[in-house]
Amino acid sequence: MTIDDALNAIHRPWVSRNTLTLAQGEELRKNFEELLEQFFDRIAQSVHSGDPADMDDLLREWVMARTQSDLEAHRTSLPSILNHMHLVTYQVARENLPDPDALALLEALLPVFSHCFEYAAHLEIEENIRHISRQLEHANKNLQRLDKSKSDFIAIAAHELKTPLTLIEGYSSMIRDSSQLGSDRNNIEVLLNGIENGANRLRHIIDDMIDVSLIDNNLLSLNFQPLWLNRLFFVLRDEFIDVIEDRSMRLEVVDFPGCDEMTFGDNERLYQAFRNLFSNAIKFTPDGGKITVDGRKLPGFFEITLSDTGIGIDPRDHSVIFEKFGRVGNTSLHSSGKTKFKGGGPGLGLSITRGIIEAHGGSIWVESSGYNETMCPGSTFHVLLPIRSTPHDPKLAKLFALDVDQSTAPPSESAEA
Ligand code: ADP
Repeated sequence: MTIDDALNAIHRPWVSRNTLTLAQGEELRKNFEELLEQFFDRIAQSVHSGDPADMDDLLREWVMARTQSDLEAHRTSLPSILNHMHLVTYQVARENLPDPDALALLEALLPVFSHCFEYAAHLEIEENIRHISRQLEHANKNLQRLDKSKSDFIAIAAHELKTPLTLIEGYSSMIRDSSQLGSDRNNIEVLLNGIENGANRLRHIIDDMIDVSLIDNNLLSLNFQPLWLNRLFFVLRDEFIDVIEDRSMRLEVVDFPGCDEMTFGDNERLYQAFRNLFSNAIKFTPDGGKITVDGRKLPGFFEITLSDTGIGIDPRDHSVIFEKFGRVGNTSLHSSGKTKFKGGGPGLGLSITRGIIEAHGGSIWVESSGYNETMCPGSTFHVLLPIRSTPHDPKLAKLFALDVDQSTAPPSESAEA
């Protein structure tokens, strides 16, 4: 029997046994059968030409076809597939050929298989090295970004902390001078107020920094309590009404359907989140502008919108502003108050707001046609907040005589009370 005849004799059993043992599932088997047919034809070609390198481009194709997840899970290693195919070759040759023909065929195939092993191992090592280099490059880029954000943090923190510190230093030395000059009590009172303002600003900046680091490290803990959105906006309106009047602005809080329904959330944190949105809307809207709070009830969610008639935001910055220190425009401005037109800030507010909303299982995004200080196209911030009819905490549920529904539980452990 010639080697060709021997190959023909084992062709079908070789393909079907390899397909059955290597591929699982009907669809995969069909594809794999085609690959095995190609492989078998190539083996025959190599045996004919006496050049095992005829196998190379096919092996290269197989190695390249490995996906990223195959590489990460160290799955489908080609040498182990080849090893399996070699074993099947040995079995089907013994089962389908007389011993001397089987031996002659295995001898003819030996150099082809050993070349395949060597070449496949070489290709896989190369591919793994490329994969590891890509991972290292990615890790390196992340480290560089982290390093940059660390230095940004230090630079901006120093910049931000300096203003109130200078205020405190200035007022303290004025108090010293005034006490030496025997200044009256009223004058001292004014200076003490100045120190108090400086200390408050310092505390706000430090609180924001702590919040950002809690959010970054997934440590923001929420205290789920009953809440009513209309009441929350009512308190916010109360807080900002004087500034809004001072700046001749109008504020409209629409009583949208569902805003008076009870839901569960962290009142304090949500107040902080919407407060940031309110203060930004005031800050980036010129005097005489309008701010509107509206919303709607969607299946499972409230969608709250906060629109202003302010300077707007360039679409390229729509995601940047939610990053920490995501200030756009003149970033050398110090914090200059929460409501002054275009007042500078540390750029932490929106990243904290997003962290709070996301910890509740919601999301936030902005719509604005662009940035234009003359035309004032305005911005609309959208907040999606899940409606929770029960608190996550069973003790709280008992307190409110409710059944705990796990499907309404906060998204992560770190977001629990
Ligand atoms: P900041 O402390 O600077 O206010 P934020 O994180 O709250 O930081 O906001 C980031 C940036 O997003 C702001 O510096 C501003 O450029 C932009 N921004 C936020 N809200 C508005 C708005 N309503 N209109 C226009 N620009 C806004």
